[in-house]
This record gives sequence, C-alpha cells and structure tokens, in this order.
Amino acid sequence: MAFLGARARCSAAAAAKVAQRRRLAEDARGPPSPPGSQRAVLYVHWPYCEKRCSYCNFNKYIPRGVDEAAVRRCLVTEAQTLLRLSGVRRVESVFFGGGTPSLASPHTVAAVLEAVAQATHLPADSEVTLEANPTSAPGSRLAAFKAAGVNRLSVGLQSLDDTELQLLGRTHSASDALQTLAEARRLFPGRVSVDLMLGLPAQQVGPWLGQLRELLRHCDDHVSLYQLSLERGTALFTQVQQGTLPAPDPELAAEMYQEGRAVLREAGFRQYEVSNFARNGALSTHNWTYWQCGQYLGVGPGAHGRFVPQGAGSHTREARIQTLEPDNWMKEVMLFGHGTRKRVPLGELELLEEVLAMGLRTDVGITHQHWQQFEPPLTLWDVFGTSREVKMLLEQGLLLLDHRGLRCSWEGLAVLDSLLLDLLSQLQDTWWQRTPSPGPGG
Ligand code: SF4
Repeated sequence: MAFLGARARCSAAAAAKVAQRRRLAEDARGPPSPPGSQRAVLYVHWPYCEKRCSYCNFNKYIPRGVDEAAVRRCLVTEAQTLLRLSGVRRVESVFFGGGTPSLASPHTVAAVLEAVAQATHLPADSEVTLEANPTSAPGSRLAAFKAAGVNRLSVGLQSLDDTELQLLGRTHSASDALQTLAEARRLFPGRVSVDLMLGLPAQQVGPWLGQLRELLRHCDDHVSLYQLSLERGTALFTQVQQGTLPAPDPELAAEMYQEGRAVLREAGFRQYEVSNFARNGALSTHNWTYWQCGQYLGVGPGAHGRFVPQGAGSHTREARIQTLEPDNWMKEVMLFGHGTRKRVPLGELELLEEVLAMGLRTDVGITHQHWQQFEPPLTLWDVFGTSREVKMLLEQGLLLLDHRGLRCSWEGLAVLDSLLLDLLSQLQDTWWQRTPSPGPGG
C-alpha cells in the first residue's frame, strides 16, 4: 500500500544513478559517524496480501496459508539481532508496512513492540504506525491493534470511486473505505492518514478534485497524494500495453497534483513533503526521519535499512536489504538470526547525495545546521553558492539558498525531480574539485 509516487521514484532513481556513477570512482574512506547514531526508527515489513492489486509491484505475496507464529518468531528475532548489531539504544518510532500488515494478528504487532522495548528504550509516546487496508481492518481489529501498541493508522483508501477501485484491483469499495476511516478516527483521533491516488488511466481533473473535496469532509489531519506509476509486470501495465486501457496522461496528473495541493492548502494543510500534507502538526515523525537521513532499521522480507553497525564495531553507515522472498528470509533468520541479503557501505559523498535528495523533498529543505551534522568538508554555500545553474533556479523562484539553508519554493517542490539532477551534479563536481580522489596506491 505505501509506495513512492512517480515523483518520489524519479528522485530516488536519479539519486541512485548518480550515486552508482560516482561509486565507481569513490575512494575507500568511510563517512564520519552520522548524527544520532544511537537512535533509529524501525520499519517492519509484513509481506502478505489478500489479493494482488493491478498496479502493484511491491514485495508482497498472496499465500495459501501463513504460519503466523513462525513469521512472528522471525520478525522478533531479526529485530533483536539488528538492534544488537546497530548498537541503537533508543527507537523513536515503529512503522508496520507491507504488503498488508492489517492482515497480521495484533499479537504479532505486540510481540515485535515488546521485543523492541526490551532491547532498547522505546518511549511511551513513540509513533507506532500500521498500514491498514479497509477490508482487513474492521473496528474490532483496529481496537485490537490499538491495544497492541499501535497509535497511528495509515489507511490505503486510494480512491472514492468504485469503478476506479475495481480498476486498481482493490478489495474495498468507497463506502468500506469511509467506514474504516470513521472507525479509525474514533480510535486514533488526530492520528489517521489516508492515501489518495491520482493520474489513473482515463481519470479527469474535475471528478478527481471532487473526490479530494469529498475526502476532506471525512479525513483526519494527514493526507498523502500519490501519482500512479505504471510498472512493468503489473496487470495495469499489460492492459495499457494491449490498448484495453488508455495510458495515464502525465499532463493531467501534473494538473491534478497542482490543483490538489492548492485545495489542501486552502483546507489548512501544510505540504511538508512532496506527497504528504498535514494539519494541526500531524506530521509523520517516522517518515520525517527518512527524509532527514536519520538511521533506520528494516526488519522483514525485503525491508531496507540504513545504519552504522556500531554494535559490530563499525563506524560506517551501511545500506542494508533483507532477503526478499519470505520463506527464504525465514530460513536465514532461523539460521543466522537475520536475513540480511545485501550490505553496501555508504561513502561520504553518497551520504551527502542522500541528504540532498531526501532533504529537498521537505518544505524545510536542508538547513545549514542539518548539513553540518553529517560533517561534510564543504558547506552548502561552498557547493551551491557560486553555481550558475543554481543561480538560475534561484532567479526562477524554484529554489532558495539563504541563512536558513537550501530548500525548494512552493513552485519548486512540484518539480523537484527536474531540479535534482542539476543539484546532484553540482554537488559531485564540487566534491571532486575540492576532495580529489587519491591516485594509484593513494
Ligand atoms: S494491498 Fe495491493 S497495493 Fe498494497 S502491497 Fe498488497 S497488492 Fe500491493
């Protein structure tokens, strides 16, 4: 359910591409210890779904039967192992995503939270979010999740139009979604988020805005807008390829996004990130940590993490990916205590690229203070202060660079992907001019 919209994907893809190019030339020095290295947030991946949605290419499985006790033991074991490896002393938030984690038993959620609280400090008021699919989350189950320790819900509503929901292959109707939303708000007042998609095949701006306005009559204080990304290998992609559905129109999607963010702004929502809107201070602190490049541990099949394995004596931040396929992941966890499939040490420049690409997604951007926390040899002024391209973006009113730091304007946030390639190249060029790579034997 929780997925990066096309904009997010492009940013991540752009960052990955330049990072890959740069990694070829990266020297062997590791980055300094990142800030808050004994703190982290924890992501837990529940990989199972009832049914495959037509647009989805996430890591999810439609099982014939799940041995939930075994999955639970593995989630608990892996969380304990990664907490020990990381040396993290304080977990600031936990996010159960998927897949469809609202299909898991509340007992599993409670067991993971208990393991985290036993291994580290998990403050009583930490944000604990669960993604919920309307059909797998009747009020009684939501209450049981609350009793298990969940205090925030992210409801995968996606649309308030039954025809669109069928097109997307969702298992719920618009009325199911509104009922779940009402029950969620009763149980978690002020802490319910909803996802709404835009840019579907044949979707028009006016009716979509009608849905958004209808949603505003029912929603709580957090809304995420995601643009449909047509992914190869999905049923929707095939239908568009075969011509049984029209291809989504990117111009219309851009118009929906622009109009939608204006409607949300009028309704008192702050656009605090490219796809995310909150009022009354209801920002997701967990996701904020990702955009601030804080440490996160990823538990469960295919989960991603970024942390310094201090408990194992390392000082270098690593990108980690757990084994994708649930049965293989479980075998590995049972054998080794964790199912980490890939570990990639992040170099200094690579970390700064992430700080830039992720930070600019937020409305506060990158403050000088935040940038300095990563102990870079270059200030933001060094990198961007004299660049001709950046000067043009400043003059066009898309970017701001001042005593606070570097950030997108309201207009710039909507076209971040197009800005990011220039900004990442600028960072790389300045980096290599100022910190030349060592020669042979260096
Ligand atoms: S509920 Fe649908 S969109 Fe969400 S992970 Fe499962 S198949 Fe994908």
